[in-house]
Amino acid sequence: MSKFNKTVVRTLIKAILQTRVDEIDCGECFGMMDKAAEHNVAGRPAPERLPLIEDHLRKCDDCREEYEQFLIALKSADG
Ligand SMILES: [Zn+2]
Repeated sequence: MSKFNKTVVRTLIKAILQTRVDEIDCGECFGMMDKAAEHNVAGRPAPERLPLIEDHLRKCDDCREEYEQFLIALKSADG
C-alpha cells in the first residue's frame, strides 16, 4: 500500500486544492457585476462566472451594495 510516498501524495493534494481555489476578488467581482446584474434582471441563465460573483457578494458588503445599486438602476431603466 505504500506505492506513493508522502511527498507525492502531498503534491497531488496540493494540485487538487489549487484547482479548487476559485474565489474572486473585489476587482474581478466589480468587473463582472454589471453583466451579472443584467442577467439577474432579465431572468436569463447565469454566465459561467456568476456563481463566483454570488459567492463573493455573500461575503463582501461593499460589493453587495454596489450590486444592489446595479439591480435598482437596471430595474428602473426597464420600468
Ligand atoms: Zn468585494
